[in-house]
Amino acid sequence: MDRRSFLSSAAFGAVGAALTACGGGGSELALGGAESSSLTTSLAAARISTVVKSRVIVIGGGMGGATVAKYLRLWGDGISVTLVERMPTYTSNIMSSMVLTGQRSMSSLTFKYDTLRSKYGITTVFGEVVAIDPVGVKVTLADGTVLAADRIVMAPGISFDDVPGLNGSNKMPHAWQAGPQTTLLASQLAALPSRGVAVLSIPKTPYRCPPGPYERACLIADWLRVNKPGSKLIVLDANPGIVTEVDNFTYAFMGLHGNVIEYHANAEVTSVDPASMTLITTAGTIRGDVINMIPRQRAGALVATAGLNNATEGRFAGVNVLSYASTVSGADKVHIIGDSSATTQPKAGHIANQEAKVCADAISRILSGGAPDPAPVTNSACYSTITMSQASWLTAVFRYNPTALAMVPVAASSAASTGWNSDSFEEMSTWFNALMADSFA
Ligand SMILES: Cc1cc2nc3c(=O)[nH]c(=O)nc-3n(C[C@H](O)[C@H](O)[C@H](O)COP(=O)(O)OP(=O)(O)OC[C@H]3O[C@@H](n4cnc5c(N)ncnc54)[C@H](O)[C@@H]3O)c2cc1C
Repeated sequence: MDRRSFLSSAAFGAVGAALTACGGGGSELALGGAESSSLTTSLAAARISTVVKSRVIVIGGGMGGATVAKYLRLWGDGISVTLVERMPTYTSNIMSSMVLTGQRSMSSLTFKYDTLRSKYGITTVFGEVVAIDPVGVKVTLADGTVLAADRIVMAPGISFDDVPGLNGSNKMPHAWQAGPQTTLLASQLAALPSRGVAVLSIPKTPYRCPPGPYERACLIADWLRVNKPGSKLIVLDANPGIVTEVDNFTYAFMGLHGNVIEYHANAEVTSVDPASMTLITTAGTIRGDVINMIPRQRAGALVATAGLNNATEGRFAGVNVLSYASTVSGADKVHIIGDSSATTQPKAGHIANQEAKVCADAISRILSGGAPDPAPVTNSACYSTITMSQASWLTAVFRYNPTALAMVPVAASSAASTGWNSDSFEEMSTWFNALMADSFA
């Protein structure tokens, strides 16, 4: 049964959206009476089945997790969904570099889970997942609660390599997971003396948001030009060169921001000394007044804890991109989406949203006795801030290739802007609002 015919034939009954918890605290997660009657009304309005036929636990309520939870409810045949997230609200990384320049507030990037609960009947549990049992399909929370389901979807984002010498110092924030480090880096930049030196380090690929560090460099350079005359931004790139949107970023670094940005390729940070604000790199020793140290990345820590980090030299999770099921033997009831998974697609919020939909569709089909769509297509749009009021853009389409067993770019459907302008900067907000609404509303 395809998605359209399923939705038109879906049955509506009493709310039974309860998820059995076993062992540990032994608590049962179920909807209360008053809440369930108003929920029944809104679910009926949204044409979502209220009969529970199977259960899915989603770990992580970010771009991937929120989206997969919503679409499992919309497309699944009576799938009860429990979303486990450590934070009570989600803070978007997308647009978070504009907090550094004072153009965005953290509150404008904060999203709640209320609509996922009230409109789609998703059960939310706020807590830390500390272990999963991929074979028994169980999830253990820090408080000892154990949840069981038919499938688990993991979307825990990224974790960071330890930087030798950093020792937990907050003097060199990465601000690559939007939150306290973002506001810390913003305040450090605000305190930068005129003619000061800021440093931004870019880790080796694959990392979250390929254009992100370059667009942040452009944004900071434009802000320094206006607010801290005579200051410099040293960009240390661990890669052999700019990894994406090469033409636009090269023109921006060498031309528009040529008086501010000093770019070094093949400059990998090997250790740091926060006391002297110094970085030891493969291209020499660099000192800065403000240092935005973005470490190398790997899947969210839980992926390695569960033994599912079988790709990219043990950094990320290998998946079958028809369903995003783990490729670890015996763990095929665990699906991993978003930045934690190793695919040929970029680690981006838009792609996490797309992977979530492919995964939700595949799980919905599998739990109804079918097979995943054999030819999924995903797409991604990306805007990069080149100045505080102008942006460039990039779009990409990926199609499943059965020979490569991978998503491959469709060149004819992919494009990039030549240069940047203020129209693209405005469109960026429209795109962002639509993406966040698709994931959280
Ligand atoms: C500065 C910056 C700019 C960016 N700009 C763009 C852009 O313009 N376009 C774009 O498409 N992408 C952009 N991105 C990338 C985008 O933010 C990520 O690719 C996206 O957030 C990945 O989604 P995810 O679901 O994998 O992870 P996340 O969105 O990080 O969500 C992971 C969630 O899992 C939760 N979690 C983790 N572990 C546990 C646990 N054990 N128990 C419970 N909860 C847990 C976390 O709290 C978090 O809420 C940008 C990123 C940065 C840093």
